Amino acid sequence: MLNLLESVLKAVRTGIIVLDAGQRIVLWNDWMAQHSRMEARHVLGRNFGEVFPEMIDGRTHIAIESALRNNFASLLSQTLNKAPFPLYAKPADTSSDIRIQQAVHVMPLDVTSRGRHCLVQITDVSMAVARERKLREMAVELESQTLVDGLTGIANRRRFDLHLEDEFRRAKRNAAPVSLIMVDVDYFKDFNDNYGHQRGDDCLVRIGGALSGVLNRARDLVARYGGEEFTVVLPDTDKDGALRVAEAMRAEVAALAIEHAFSGVASHVTISLGVSTLVPELATTTGSLIHAADRALYQAKRGGRNCVAVYLDGRLS
Ligand code: GH3
Ligand code: MG
Ligand code: MG
Repeated sequence: MLNLLESVLKAVRTGIIVLDAGQRIVLWNDWMAQHSRMEARHVLGRNFGEVFPEMIDGRTHIAIESALRNNFASLLSQTLNKAPFPLYAKPADTSSDIRIQQAVHVMPLDVTSRGRHCLVQITDVSMAVARERKLREMAVELESQTLVDGLTGIANRRRFDLHLEDEFRRAKRNAAPVSLIMVDVDYFKDFNDNYGHQRGDDCLVRIGGALSGVLNRARDLVARYGGEEFTVVLPDTDKDGALRVAEAMRAEVAALAIEHAFSGVASHVTISLGVSTLVPELATTTGSLIHAADRALYQAKRGGRNCVAVYLDGRLS
């Protein structure tokens, strides 16, 4: 039986250390010897802190103390300390201190007639960590390429930017007007604060749907600009057309009749809208159209909210 246990301890691909009540190392398996480059005969009988001076009072050491003293088990968090033990996959990594990434379990162990001991189990998680990092990088990469807003399912900011640039170029060629509407939900902070973030999110989804429902033309686009702000691109649309769309959007959102007892303007959720229109000259940038719609939105807010304002020829009307 003892032979069998010895073979197992030799064969496992996990580091196993057992410490006695005085924190002396009483067991050190082959995996530990191989990856720490310290043979069992050099560490057995020595104190943990003496063998790992850099780990004194570190998280692992504290976990060992609390296992011995208070009978507590711990799993040391990967995010806080990826490689507490100086363990290396290959000899060459030792000099450059490229350590194995570790998951460390510390467990109290009652050894019959010899009192409380502590078992430290170290697993190599380098592969899992590398895989996880790769997946995270891919997720970020995908995220940056996506054109759809994750919450509402309508176009996102990136799609809006691309679409507006396209339409701007086309309008310049054709000397045609482009209109932009900036939309902002009124008193939405109060909505969130009182009904909760989840209902806030649901509300944004419904508003996104209502705004989309108003549009008819293929090149019209409604996008989530960020947070509780939306934006609408209306190619080949003059000021009067854009105002009609904006007013229809305002009415449509009001008609959702989403209760908002904490709004300063109505008993349901409302939006304010800023409209800007221009026929772009060669040197005009999309920024000026956005800026103008923003100014108009600000005016709609100041004008009492739940309304539409328009910015035209450098002035508000
Ligand atoms: P105003 O009428 O002046 O626009 O007031 P407001 O409270 O809507 O304006 P403010 O910009 O102060 O607050 C915007 C709030 O919208 C902040 C946050 O609580 C909420 N919000 C922004 N983005 C999200 C989101 O993605 N989900 C949820 N649930 N709430 C959001
Ligand atoms: Mg806002
Ligand atoms: Mg708002």
